[in-house]
Amino acid sequence: MEDIYNDLIMEHSMNSPYKKELEKYTMCEVGHNPNCGDEIELKIKLSEDKSVIEDMAFTGHGCAISQASTSIMIETLIGKTVEEAKEIISTYIGMIKREITSEEELKKLEEAIAFKDISHMPARVKCALLAWHTLEEMLNNNDSE
Ligand code: ZN
Repeated sequence: MEDIYNDLIMEHSMNSPYKKELEKYTMCEVGHNPNCGDEIELKIKLSEDKSVIEDMAFTGHGCAISQASTSIMIETLIGKTVEEAKEIISTYIGMIKREITSEEELKKLEEAIAFKDISHMPARVKCALLAWHTLEEMLNNNDSE
């Protein structure tokens, strides 16, 4: 892994600006990865018409990869529309599963591209996907309401 990405992951895992309580939120969901013991609670605040992610935060505990991927996911997706977020989520999952490799496609991940090499570390894949799967589920539930 390139050093700049390592630093980014370390920074977010040790000192995330998004690891906090959210006073007002639209939805809340717990994600759990029993393989590693990672557990996160994601809270999201959507705009009134539910089309834009206005704020997001998390609490919980787990390994550096799970904590950093949650934090960087939040940083990447705050301010995005729900539609944009869904596209970024599926691109990220595609990157980790090595189904999406085009640089052009991966550009939309912004800093979350830091986790590209996790796809070569099978033991860490579930840690890197936890927050993203949890959020994907939340946004899909949002649609069905
Ligand atoms: Zn983990």
